Amino acid sequence: MYDAIIIGAGASGIFAAIEAKSKKNNLKILILERSNSMLSKVKLSGGGRCNITNATFDPHELAKNYPRGSKELLSAFNKFQPRDMIKWLEEKNVSLKIDENNKVFPKSDSSNTLIECFLKELELKKIEIRFNQNIKNILKDNEFFEILFENQESIFTKKVVLATGSSSSGLKLAQNLGHSIEPFIPSLFSFKIKKNDILKLSGISLKNVKVSIKNTKFSQIGSILITHEGFSGPAIINLSSFAAKYLFENNYLSTLFINWLNISQEEIYQILLKAKNDYPNKLLLKINPFNFPNNLNHYFINSYSNIFSHIIKNVTNKNLFRLSEKLSSDEYQIISKSQNKGEFVSCGGVNLKEVNFKDMQSKICKNLYLTGELLNIDGITGGYNLQNAWTTGFIAGYFL
Ligand SMILES: Cc1cc2nc3c(=O)[nH]c(=O)nc-3n(C[C@H](O)[C@H](O)[C@H](O)COP(=O)(O)OP(=O)(O)OC[C@H]3O[C@@H](n4cnc5c(N)ncnc54)[C@H](O)[C@@H]3O)c2cc1C
Repeated sequence: MYDAIIIGAGASGIFAAIEAKSKKNNLKILILERSNSMLSKVKLSGGGRCNITNATFDPHELAKNYPRGSKELLSAFNKFQPRDMIKWLEEKNVSLKIDENNKVFPKSDSSNTLIECFLKELELKKIEIRFNQNIKNILKDNEFFEILFENQESIFTKKVVLATGSSSSGLKLAQNLGHSIEPFIPSLFSFKIKKNDILKLSGISLKNVKVSIKNTKFSQIGSILITHEGFSGPAIINLSSFAAKYLFENNYLSTLFINWLNISQEEIYQILLKAKNDYPNKLLLKINPFNFPNNLNHYFINSYSNIFSHIIKNVTNKNLFRLSEKLSSDEYQIISKSQNKGEFVSCGGVNLKEVNFKDMQSKICKNLYLTGELLNIDGITGGYNLQNAWTTGFIAGYFL
């Protein structure tokens, strides 16, 4: 008979186990992992650098970065938030650094540093992990849970933490214990677009661009990267997160609007008129009033209409107006998505109304705790998804 069994040796399960044993050293706990390794997503995270969390310390500001789960996490962040995670790691001698976007990484730029820290903690606290575990079902009588394996063996425990991430087998276990589920769909991806000359400019990135999905309220401001098949970069990937459900329901066929300068069309037009006034005998291509990278400047001015290869005093205001329209609401057809290699997460999971965020306990099944990506919570890119795992794992562990 165990006090608690944690299912899933990922970020939230491992953190829950460590916290539980830190609080109550005599707790008899066990982690059951389906695969032959632990923390495999943490290892891959941030392209191997591991963007551990985001140094946004105001819970209200922090919660805004979760398209699903922001309300529920707000109270949870009062118990354990990025500042606590940073402190926790620094106490374990993990040196950290914070980049200009508040992303927190190990100073070593390697997820292995974090994994080694967790391994040491697991060893110190003598936490047992069993790998290659095929759980068939979890049964509950009044007091205890019976974990039933495919080979017909079973073990008993007083409490269970489900920390199975975005695996469908984990969802099934939650469902069998009475929970309702929002189906998993992808979030945090790049866009593939219909063939277009802009694709020849792959590799160019721009800051402070506004991107939005036509006929929706979804929009984001930030950096954008032109790729060989479409668009990527933080603004696009975050847009995919807020619009994840809409894009899925529309089979990833939508229209993307880009305001390349994130200012109004009228302001762009006025800048073009001023350029005409200040440098009447120069080519618009040479003036480059918006300081675009050369190839992009060329794309907008030449490929748009060769009239712009004339000196600017010979360009009609009507054409300058048309250019301002293009720069403020450039249109591209999204035809599908492609996976973002740096960070990837699913939206969907256990219905949040069925979980008490004070202790991460199920409202449906007493002594069942649910953490991490298994819940219908996901954040934009920037360390928010791992923070969800740390926060919910910590709270569950604290109350085991
Ligand atoms: C490539 C990639 C890069 C990422 N980079 C970042 C990043 O830089 N920053 C960030 O914040 N987020 C990042 N994420 C997201 C982040 O890794 C996840 O949100 C986080 O790992 C979720 O933690 P979890 O504990 O809920 O689930 P997981 O880490 O997925 O762990 C779940 C564990 O449960 C096990 N399991 C599943 N089903 C069963 C079962 N039936 N029985 C037993 N065990 C089971 C799995 O094998 C796994 O070990 C990235 C994700 C990916 C895929």
